[in-house]
Amino acid sequence: MVINLSSQYSLLSDWISELRDVDVQADRMRFRRNLERIGEVAALEISRHLAHAKKEIQTPLGISTCKKLKDQPVLATILRAGLPLHQGLLNYFDKADNAFISAYRKHNPDGTFEISLDYISCPELENRVIIISDPMLATGSSLVKTIQFLRDEGHPSEIHIVVAIACTVGIEYVQRSEPQVKIWCGAIDEELTAKGYIVPGLGDAGDLAFGTKVQM
Ligand code: URA
Repeated sequence: MVINLSSQYSLLSDWISELRDVDVQADRMRFRRNLERIGEVAALEISRHLAHAKKEIQTPLGISTCKKLKDQPVLATILRAGLPLHQGLLNYFDKADNAFISAYRKHNPDGTFEISLDYISCPELENRVIIISDPMLATGSSLVKTIQFLRDEGHPSEIHIVVAIACTVGIEYVQRSEPQVKIWCGAIDEELTAKGYIVPGLGDAGDLAFGTKVQM
């Protein structure tokens, strides 16, 4: 299942347009904050689909029957680019457990690359809802590798993926490899370059959020 969060206009479309805009994206704080806001909206939308329970709450004037989230999800992100989106999810799922995975592109001299998984810190995953954030769903290989790693660590009950921009080939690859996951996108683009960049996309999300890295 793919949910395009900008299929109908909302303020989220303005934040996506600022992320893409070469004249605005140079403001790193604004770039990170826009990703964070998309994470916040995605958290609210995902929460509508999570199990909740009724609880009697004592107010100063009486008892109110309230709905509360039944179980805390695990928020997992891919370092480093995923951090602002992750922070947005964590702002709303503020009692969640967190997992951090470092997945990066190891470039070959011929321009191809492989995904390498590195640092991993992970809580108990058995029977839990996992929400994985990564700003760009390009080829989909780092997300699929991450999901496979997380499945080896436990048996999550549900997996959600939150991305700012996805491209269609990446979505198709994730859906073929992991048909059960739900993909929440800020926007969907059609094109992917041979070097794995989304067009029109926004450029390198990690570099725009945190500064240009040296190629490894
Ligand atoms: N990662 C990025 O940061 N940008 C892309 O376009 C694709 C992957």
